[in-house]
Amino acid sequence: MGNNMEPKEWRLTALTDIWTGDAQGKPGRLIPTGLRGSIRWWFEVLVRGLGGKVCDPTVDGVRCPDKNVKNPYDPGHHCVVCELFGCTGWARKFRLMVLDQEGPVIQKQIKAGRTFTLHFIPLRSISDEEWCLLDATLRLIANYGALGGRTVFKPTDELNRQGEDYHRDFGLIRIKPVISGVRAYTGDELSRYVDYSHWRRVDHDDFAWASLDNFWCVKGRYLARQDPDNSTFNQIIGREQAKGRSQRLAQETPVNRWLAGRQQESKKVFSFKHPEEGRRTFGFVKPGLVEFDEMKRRLGQVWSPFNPDAEFITKDQILSELFSQGGNV
Ligand SMILES: [Zn+2]
Repeated sequence: MGNNMEPKEWRLTALTDIWTGDAQGKPGRLIPTGLRGSIRWWFEVLVRGLGGKVCDPTVDGVRCPDKNVKNPYDPGHHCVVCELFGCTGWARKFRLMVLDQEGPVIQKQIKAGRTFTLHFIPLRSISDEEWCLLDATLRLIANYGALGGRTVFKPTDELNRQGEDYHRDFGLIRIKPVISGVRAYTGDELSRYVDYSHWRRVDHDDFAWASLDNFWCVKGRYLARQDPDNSTFNQIIGREQAKGRSQRLAQETPVNRWLAGRQQESKKVFSFKHPEEGRRTFGFVKPGLVEFDEMKRRLGQVWSPFNPDAEFITKDQILSELFSQGGNV
């Protein structure tokens, strides 16, 4: 593994406002911990997709460290994600600063059109594999997802944002091509890294859906409300379409319950209309409950013509874009 204390930067442009408020839903301030939490959430998604067994830091009894391993340097103390992002007894390896083009630290919410820099300062040595995974995570967010993690994606946030505008667009970013010297690895090499026997392996049944294995994205398409009686978004996640009734499921099925989310669960479909450059719809499936074919079928009902073979992007295509194909390491 490499040894690297050099800061690295990624230059991003906000295509929409970025939701960086605190847990109480106050949107006006930029909270670096919120951004860091969002990046961590997508980092977990990517690492699970590479075969890593990682914790969910929000769940008691699941989060690292393993209470039976006292020494943080011993095998099994923490998972590969906590290795970089930290957990109790093992400090995170970097400080994240959000800078504007001229350099000062940004303290207000990032608005659409603003270019900004994520400046990562190592506090301890960050390995080349970790830098590569971080770079891939930021490109995954920019090209297929949105900057917002478990906090932003929760339905309770929708209520704070005036009920119906859960398809309000936030969190889309454009990323400049890699500017910092991040060493390239193949997906296979990183799969071996995240599977390294030193890392704690977490039995992650309850949150295994948050994996690139279960992720899908369709670019250039969106779901939204058309009028008070019709919402393609609600149709896809199985809620009633009529305004005012849209917190109810159209049919009480386990699939609809899961896709729509409820209480403290995230919904599993997200859609962005503006701007056209970033337009996309993405989501997750849960093997054994709802499969990719069911999502394709539902999407085919609202988008016509829809060609899933060409438009429905999943893990293999994303990994081949994110990682080196070998030979140029
Ligand atoms: Zn962990």
